[in-house]
Amino acid sequence: MKVIIAGAGIGGLVLALMLEKRGIDCEIFESVRELKPLGVGINLLPHACRQLQALGILDDLAETGIETSALHYFNQYGQPIWQEPRGLAAGYVVPQLSLHRGELQMLLAETVKNRLKGGRLHTGMAFEAMEQDAQGITVRFRNRNSGTLDEVRGDILVGADGIHSVVRRSLFPLFDQLRFSGRMLWRATTDADPYLDGRTMFMAGHQDQKFVCYPISETLRRQGRSRINWIAELRTGSSDLPSTDWNREVNADVFAERFAAWRWDWIDIPALIQSATAIYEFPLVDKDPLPSWTQGRACLLGDAAHPMYPIGSNGSAQAILDAVCLADRLQDLRSGSSGSDITLALKEYEAERLPVTAGIVLRNRLNGPEQVMQVAHERAPDGFQHIHDVISEQELGAIALRYKRLAGFDPAALKAAQS
Ligand SMILES: Cc1cc2nc3c(=O)[nH]c(=O)nc-3n(C[C@H](O)[C@H](O)[C@H](O)COP(=O)(O)OP(=O)(O)OC[C@H]3O[C@@H](n4cnc5c(N)ncnc54)[C@H](O)[C@@H]3O)c2cc1C
Repeated sequence: MKVIIAGAGIGGLVLALMLEKRGIDCEIFESVRELKPLGVGINLLPHACRQLQALGILDDLAETGIETSALHYFNQYGQPIWQEPRGLAAGYVVPQLSLHRGELQMLLAETVKNRLKGGRLHTGMAFEAMEQDAQGITVRFRNRNSGTLDEVRGDILVGADGIHSVVRRSLFPLFDQLRFSGRMLWRATTDADPYLDGRTMFMAGHQDQKFVCYPISETLRRQGRSRINWIAELRTGSSDLPSTDWNREVNADVFAERFAAWRWDWIDIPALIQSATAIYEFPLVDKDPLPSWTQGRACLLGDAAHPMYPIGSNGSAQAILDAVCLADRLQDLRSGSSGSDITLALKEYEAERLPVTAGIVLRNRLNGPEQVMQVAHERAPDGFQHIHDVISEQELGAIALRYKRLAGFDPAALKAAQS
């Protein structure tokens, strides 16, 4: 049996490694001519890290990324709302890692090249079309070097081609619209002195004006410095969908003024913004959950299946969990499996993963775990003496736990699943 994967992002590469581990043949086709370490920071939650540990690559990742120790929420005046330990400090058996997305993708790609012998990772090959029949699936990729339309034959196609998925558009053209929240994100990294313990992620503000920060370089941390990944977010007042290019660079003048007063005794946000290396603009967008992810021998995975707001640090984790589930469902299929066996296996994958991820997409539209900041803002827009005058400890804890349960990283449930 041969699986054709369109897209060598986080989800596609992890799927290839999961399939290889189970002895299933696969080939990956990626549209860019050369994989480069693009993007800025990304988070890997413990349930995803556990899967990367099973692949034997967690130690290498921990050498590059930061083992996040805690998550703190503040209002726009820097007053503390809620804080919780994260990763090992929260009792998980594996860490939560904050790292550079590009470094994660490069490490995964190198591992794929080493483990999948015979040149199974092809770049400069953009998915365009496919045709299915009783014996298999024919997939057509535009070869960006020769300009030709090259045909590849296999048993299954997995569309892991990200938020602008062409596979999704060809399978479900009616459900492909990007939904713009009216909020813009500006992402960057700044090398600076560490804040707090040098491992803490924090968020400040509310849904119309927010600043998110987390360090992402273990190398710099060992030198007593910090590579701080940050995201500034503002509601723009426009409902027109802006450009959705991950690599669109802009000047800080577009938003910096709104954060000019966000200077507290342990962090200077205006200074972080001014010292950034490059700032990338991306709108806060998602797509409505699909009614189905599969059509015969073809299915979707990761952002292609369920693009979600980057709230709750879940995008990469859910792509990785999709990959594990799909590889498990395909494990029992071998050469000679009929088309209906394959369709059933893909449907089982969909039945397990679609409802969970659809729930996260919808909950993230309601701010996910960041709801604590929104409630604090609505009840005390001018700040508070103590957060418990505004929200009880129980209410804060319940919001945090509900999200962990939904996204599958409630510590108690993970422990039960392991034993
Ligand atoms: C350039 C880039 C930068 C990003 N930066 C960040 C970031 O800084 N922080 C963050 O949290 N998330 C970032 N993301 C998104 C993040 O990687 C995903 O949300 C998450 O990891 C889920 O991974 P995925 O594999 O589903 O999608 P992605 O990681 O987006 O991977 C999709 C892959 O498919 C490829 N592709 C697209 N179209 C085709 C096609 N027609 N045929 C074949 N291949 C195709 C893309 O080039 C890409 O390599 C970025 C994504 C990209 C592509």
